[in-house]
Amino acid sequence: MRILVAEDDEHVADALTDALRQHGHTVLWRADGGKAVDAAEEVDFVLLDLGLPDLDGYEVCRRIRATSMVPIIALTARSEEIDRVMVLQAGADDYVVKPYGFRELLARIEAVTRRTRQAPLPTALPEPDGSELETGALSIDVRARKAFLAGEPLSLTAKEFDLLALLAAEHGAVLTREQIIERVWDENWFGSTRTLDVHVGTLRTKLGDKRWIETVRGVGFRLTDPCG
Ligand code: CA
Repeated sequence: MRILVAEDDEHVADALTDALRQHGHTVLWRADGGKAVDAAEEVDFVLLDLGLPDLDGYEVCRRIRATSMVPIIALTARSEEIDRVMVLQAGADDYVVKPYGFRELLARIEAVTRRTRQAPLPTALPEPDGSELETGALSIDVRARKAFLAGEPLSLTAKEFDLLALLAAEHGAVLTREQIIERVWDENWFGSTRTLDVHVGTLRTKLGDKRWIETVRGVGFRLTDPCG
């Protein structure tokens, strides 16, 4: 996963970052709340120190939640400093009191991830013997792996085709970035989610109208017929 560590104490942040990286995670570190809010858009999980220098931790939490459903675990220095109800009301999924053991934190991260994970996709990538998918002027012949816009064939790469076929199979439904990456790339793929954005970008260009693929801020993408 891509994990945001929002923590102003450099030593704490370093230790946490190292430990998370050793467990295969990609870590973004931000030392103040404003930057943490911005960076939350780019990650799959947020570890949020409530005592950041610029913004109240609850406020950071609320601002992230205003645009994103990314899981958040709040970290706080002393148990009496934390208002448990307030932190959950602000939108955090859980909280951990410092000092905590790293294994405990990992277990909490896993539990929150399981709990907040979106329901699995109702359908997998269309089967090779599947039928034709149609959305407005767009039609996809899954068996032949060809896509047509107003009857004209689109020249797509393999990943672009998979991405378009997946969105078309679920057309109208929002697919999370995680779901798309799992289906089109690999479920154990921890690379940059920029790859997905790049493919969405080239696909939009080839479709000739960026409205075909709607960005649902903080969640993912959905296919919509711009003329529909
Ligand atoms: Ca702090």
